[in-house]
Amino acid sequence: MGKVVAIANQKGGVGKTTTCINLAASLVATRRHVLLIDLDPQGNATMGSGVDKHSLEHSVLDVLTGQADLIDVMQFSEEGGYQLLPSNRDLTAAEVVLLDLPNKERRLLDALAPVRSNYDYILIDCPPSLSMLTINAMVAADAVIIPMQCEYFALEGLTDLIGSIQRIADQLNPELEIEGILRTMYDPRLSLTNDVSQQLKDYFGEKLYDTVIPRNVRLAEAPSHGLPVLAYDKKSRGALAYLELAAELSRRQRAKQRAAKHA
Ligand code: ADP
Ligand code: MG
Repeated sequence: MGKVVAIANQKGGVGKTTTCINLAASLVATRRHVLLIDLDPQGNATMGSGVDKHSLEHSVLDVLTGQADLIDVMQFSEEGGYQLLPSNRDLTAAEVVLLDLPNKERRLLDALAPVRSNYDYILIDCPPSLSMLTINAMVAADAVIIPMQCEYFALEGLTDLIGSIQRIADQLNPELEIEGILRTMYDPRLSLTNDVSQQLKDYFGEKLYDTVIPRNVRLAEAPSHGLPVLAYDKKSRGALAYLELAAELSRRQRAKQRAAKHA
């Protein structure tokens, strides 16, 4: 059964989309089957996967509303090597449209059911809000990855996010857990980075990934070419960091499976 991971943080600009694209491509590089779902009306994950958001016949919105089948809407990203469920600004209508539909929190979960077992990982790029779209992502997900910049204000809002995850776990999806906290745009020369990093370690313990994503200009350049960084500059520090994250993710999952077997 594919593991569904929502990449979420209601703050914008923390590296959600960058993580989604590059973790997807890195998992593909280790021969995993991956589906990336762009659930942000900005469509950055779509463009960054080499698919033009302006020329979509159907988008993830049609899947959520039941106007189209997921199989017919998804496209293969040649550049990333994964399947993509694309998005564009049509998705801004979702907040309103979903309110009138039955099972409004479970639309994505239901749409994924027939394909879930075809993938090793399904990654969901969430919008920068705790909206109905993010709720759909978390109801469909097994786990959440929270990318964070190690700056003072990064910790603000984290309690809201964790509260939302807890509420969704209590009311809608008892399986949901925090998969891990990922430090992004990391600059160890800044003492603030180290302070915040230590606070995260104290608070989250093992949930904090050992892998950190450095600030790396290649990661910022790659999307303008519609490429994951692995296809743009595979030797860059950014590319290596996301490969390391994919390895850490797999390692953790194997450890968890072993623990479950022996329980
Ligand atoms: P979000 O999806 O959370 O809004 P993005 O992934 O779009 O965040 O990142 C915000 C901006 O920062 C983008 O311009 C992106 O290219 C850049 N960026 C993200 N991660 C890094 C990094 N590790 N190093 C340098 N630039 C980064
Ligand atoms: Mg984004």
